[in-house]
Amino acid sequence: MNKIPLYLKIIIGLVLGIIWALLSANYGLNKFTLNWIDPFGQIFIKSLKFIAIPLVVFSIVSGICGMKNIGGLGRLGLKTLSAYLLTTIFSVSVGLCLVNMIAPGKQIEEEKRIQNRMSYELWVQSSKGNIDYADEKRFLNKPKYGHLIPKNAEIEESKAISKLDDLKDTKQHGPLQFLVDMVPDNIFKALSSNKAMLQIIFFSILFGLALLSIDKQVAQPIISFVDGANAAFLKMIDWIMQAAPFFVFALMAGVMAKMAQNISELIEIFKGLAWYSLTVVMGLALMAFVIYPLCIRFIGNKNLFYRPFFRKMAPAQFLAFSTSSSAATLPVTMHCVEERVGVSKRISSFVLPIGATVNMDGTSLYQAIAVIFLAQLHFIDLTIIQQLSIVLTATLASIGSAAVPSAGLVMLIMVLQSVGLNPMWIAIIFPVDRFLDMCRTTVNVTGDATVCAIIAESEKALGESNSE
Ligand code: ASP
Repeated sequence: MNKIPLYLKIIIGLVLGIIWALLSANYGLNKFTLNWIDPFGQIFIKSLKFIAIPLVVFSIVSGICGMKNIGGLGRLGLKTLSAYLLTTIFSVSVGLCLVNMIAPGKQIEEEKRIQNRMSYELWVQSSKGNIDYADEKRFLNKPKYGHLIPKNAEIEESKAISKLDDLKDTKQHGPLQFLVDMVPDNIFKALSSNKAMLQIIFFSILFGLALLSIDKQVAQPIISFVDGANAAFLKMIDWIMQAAPFFVFALMAGVMAKMAQNISELIEIFKGLAWYSLTVVMGLALMAFVIYPLCIRFIGNKNLFYRPFFRKMAPAQFLAFSTSSSAATLPVTMHCVEERVGVSKRISSFVLPIGATVNMDGTSLYQAIAVIFLAQLHFIDLTIIQQLSIVLTATLASIGSAAVPSAGLVMLIMVLQSVGLNPMWIAIIFPVDRFLDMCRTTVNVTGDATVCAIIAESEKALGESNSE
């Protein structure tokens, strides 16, 4: 058993979890799964989350304190942000090309799409105040989506409304608001919130730089403490990784059991949204299996090309798939990139936490496809200018998305609004969103690791990996 590589054990856990959930739904054991197996999945996610913040703080501080040339930090920051921006813009463009080519929203009858268009026109009039309708939600049931909207449309509607409410909290106030948000007003508050990762990164960099600037003797005890704490958290990750196959089994069994409460309805929904889901999955697969490997081959280190990179990153990728959260996966991503790919901590401790927060190639690609799909479904052809504005807003929306499940869906509201579409339409794609979230999170994490490996190569910080 010990000879089986970790990534294979995790795949086995994942597949067994899915099989277990389907069998338990079939034999009426769903409740048992939710009561007795799912909690271990929750424990797993919570353990990863509680490690994430201290790990980021200690590894950034320890990385900076170990730097010989501080001048390089600015260069590293510039490289990191440019690389993340470029990959995100590229992935939105891939999404746009695919959705225009496959046209998933045009796969339902034209008559239904024309009716959808009429209801959209009504919505436009009402939002301009020309018609006295109470609010957008009254339009949801009117359009004809074939069997895209399941029987429980009202539940989907209320979920969409609650997502709209979520967005109100994340709305920006001005062009420089993101800079204001990056600075914590209370460091202890920031440290106690998994959502304040950028504030934590900001503080850690500043703290590391301050330690380097004060008297060496005064700083040394703190630096030793930080190094020791860092090593202890890395050890915890090691332990969690050993138990990951079991935890992934529990997590998948729980997630699938919740989804599979009514399998026949689920299959119906997937059928209705099959073209859309297929387009998203194709785009994500293109990024993960073609674009990133090509980047590694031609801009990164040739020796990592294809199998070696995937083998080394697989535990993080499967974890991203099962948790749907880049933030929860971050400790394992750092572990894989440092211990297995061989990137120096100096690079990874800086590039990866930023990536988990701002670089979401999978999310931006999915947002581009979702918006055009919804427009097609309503017989709306978006102009080139509108599509270009989607590149901009999807890029910004993915940067603004928190690294947690469904965050991309919430920010999709913003992208829909930017081209004048009805934000309530997120209810249409809601039923398949969890599955697509699992896939796009995997791409988000792979994108971060790819950029990190490429930057490490350019900084000559790609050493020997400790294990496979
Ligand atoms: N769940 C994704 C992530 O954590 C964000 C999203 O919803 O797209 O990376």
